[in-house]
Amino acid sequence: MLRFLIPLVIVVASCNKKIPQVSTTTPEVQIETRAASAPIAKNIIFLIGDGMGLGQITAGMYVNGNKTALEDFPVVGLHKCHASNNLITDSAAAATAFSCGVKTFNGAIGVNSDNVSVKTILEEAEEKGLATGLVATSTIVHATPASYIAHNKSRSNYEEIAEDFLDTEVDILIGGGKKYFDRRSDDKNLLTDMSTYNVYSFLDTELEDIAIDITKNLAYFTADDSPLSYEQGRDYLVPAAKLSYEFLKRKNDNGFFIMVEGSQIDWGGHANNQNYIITEFIEYDKVIRDALDFAKRDGNTLVVVTADHETGGFAIQRESKMDSLVTAFTSDYHTGTMIPVFAYGPGSDMFSGIYDNTSIYDKMRKVLGWE
Ligand code: MG
Ligand code: ZN
Repeated sequence: MLRFLIPLVIVVASCNKKIPQVSTTTPEVQIETRAASAPIAKNIIFLIGDGMGLGQITAGMYVNGNKTALEDFPVVGLHKCHASNNLITDSAAAATAFSCGVKTFNGAIGVNSDNVSVKTILEEAEEKGLATGLVATSTIVHATPASYIAHNKSRSNYEEIAEDFLDTEVDILIGGGKKYFDRRSDDKNLLTDMSTYNVYSFLDTELEDIAIDITKNLAYFTADDSPLSYEQGRDYLVPAAKLSYEFLKRKNDNGFFIMVEGSQIDWGGHANNQNYIITEFIEYDKVIRDALDFAKRDGNTLVVVTADHETGGFAIQRESKMDSLVTAFTSDYHTGTMIPVFAYGPGSDMFSGIYDNTSIYDKMRKVLGWE
């Protein structure tokens, strides 16, 4: 209760209006107090390590010299990640739980279990005048980023999902999948419709050569299809995430919402490849560190780190030593284990405890003062 009362009192005192009677009996007063609730944080950085369960985090931490940026997060919780139609979720249903606050069926992008479109937290942020961003190491139309911007019964309708990107002006987009925009089966070139964007491509531009221009939105396609793995030489995620926070902060005074995904931790799990998981995690750990550093400097930013689900049933075996892990897998698909949530910044205390994955959406809306 206190958590709610404190921001209310601050707002009432600062807006120099007649102090409303706080009452739970009349609906009018409830509406008035809700309207007066101030944002708890101005910005949200949401970091999703796809397939990043506790086994992945633990193995990555030991290989990384027994340290991870996650140790600096004061609040830890757990979420239940099941889908509406299956105990074992896929990334589409899981990301839709985060983006829309609804449990839905596997494969669903931004639609509920009746296949009805649901407004995402990113679309709502755009409507309310915040700046927004999506950054991924998959294609930008892949399930996790797509669930913030598209509405489709199937995650594999990549060309339809790409068209949905024209409906919402996300301020910054960084990821692969250029071919779903400009080399399509219907011969449309969606890039020509993105006139509010400075569009850059991996074909002719390195990330560090992009000059920040806050008068336009920014799209950077990092690959024609899926980007490489970190081991194969992909190295844009850390600088892309850093650039995005600074871009969004400068672009808009109203605050921002951004989702940055470490997409390929999951792919290492599907491949039952320990090194793939660990190298992707260690890169993502740097993204987590930088987000934390940004939030510490900014003071008005909530950082939440979690996964959509665990992949592989990845376990550290008894023969392991800290510097030589022996691991095993129980599956080449996702598993049903609960997933850790790490939070830092204003509103972070809401993220302790055990709750459904859909609650992350509700908590983030509360933090932004939208409830
Ligand atoms: Mg994903
Ligand atoms: Zn997966």
